[in-house]
Amino acid sequence: MDDWKKALAQSVVKPKDLAAHLGVDPKDIEEIVGDYPMRITPTVLATIKAKGDAIWKQVVPDPAEMEDFEAEDDPLEEDLMSPVPHLVHRYPDRVLLMVTNQCPIYCRFCTRKRLVGKPGFLKKGELDRAIAYLREHTEVRDVILSGGDPLLLPDHLLERVLKALRSIPHLELIRIGSRVPGSLPQRITPQLCEIVKQYHPIYMNLHFNHPDELTPEVKAACGMLADAGVPLGAQTVLLRGVNDDPEIMKRLMHQLLLARVKPYYLYQADLTKGTNHFRTTVETGMEIIRALQGHTSGMAVPHFVIDAPGGGGKIPILPPEYLVHLDEDGAILRNYENKTFRYPQPDNGGRRELPMVGARRAADSCGDGGYEDL
Ligand SMILES: *Cc1c(COP(=O)(O)O)cnc(C)c1O
Repeated sequence: MDDWKKALAQSVVKPKDLAAHLGVDPKDIEEIVGDYPMRITPTVLATIKAKGDAIWKQVVPDPAEMEDFEAEDDPLEEDLMSPVPHLVHRYPDRVLLMVTNQCPIYCRFCTRKRLVGKPGFLKKGELDRAIAYLREHTEVRDVILSGGDPLLLPDHLLERVLKALRSIPHLELIRIGSRVPGSLPQRITPQLCEIVKQYHPIYMNLHFNHPDELTPEVKAACGMLADAGVPLGAQTVLLRGVNDDPEIMKRLMHQLLLARVKPYYLYQADLTKGTNHFRTTVETGMEIIRALQGHTSGMAVPHFVIDAPGGGGKIPILPPEYLVHLDEDGAILRNYENKTFRYPQPDNGGRRELPMVGARRAADSCGDGGYEDL
């Protein structure tokens, strides 16, 4: 058996195993894992340092999951935007393709809590239907493999999916969203990298929420993917009691860059049933962006987004004070040190134009173009 399959098989999935490893009373969580499965890989188990710490909270079932009666199972209305099974077509030019419901670990705050944990991978006939849809929809240029976790597919099935996608001429990008490098680094093998290399451009967005997740093994797994030519991004969920703190978040972003992973999105927690106890205020996310922007490498600043309930898609949120004022004369801007500056609009000969008509820099004289301190 492959090492990664062994590691996955050694994961904690039964309440009584949790008692043995972490001293949790199995009775307290039996009912929860009946509804929402648990899996904790040896790598993740080893990073838990104390009961209730940031890693623990992400993977150990909490009775609060069962006390959430208001929220929806599917707040993003993905099920309504699915033209064929396992495919979500929300945006004009890109789709999600869910290739499995299996994950290396079951995050307690998962947006797809209603689905994950069920056995099996996308079946041949289901893949054929998804491919037929994509072949017909020539506007789709970007497919995001998701789930569940696509990197839990065995090599031959992952290759089958990639090969089928690459048979579609108008498809430009393939993206893979995965928590595998951070939780089951053994899965990142030279063979996997060889497969991935044949189907470029392949991008990966990896799920990381806390700096302690970036162990040396995890960084090595990320490095193998980067060496295989895969541009790596990170998606982080803002979680109460886990990473809702600017200092922790800055350490996470720095650790990601050290692992050759570029922070991509910071998500406000979704309204998914059973995950409400993880939500923070929106201001918490803005505070984190304020603490990063300008204070550290711009590379370390993710886009803070809210995936709008009701299927509105991801909407970016910036602290509102950066753009103090904007009119036809110019913009009043505030920087990270709280200083204000004025950026004048280009001179367009007294003509009034609608905003956003496009670049008009050529007509600008060089003299008065720069930023001026007020
Ligand atoms: C997040 C998401 C995408 C990809 O969005 P990007 O902003 O391009 O990363 C595509 N489809 C759905 C349904 C999504 O939720």
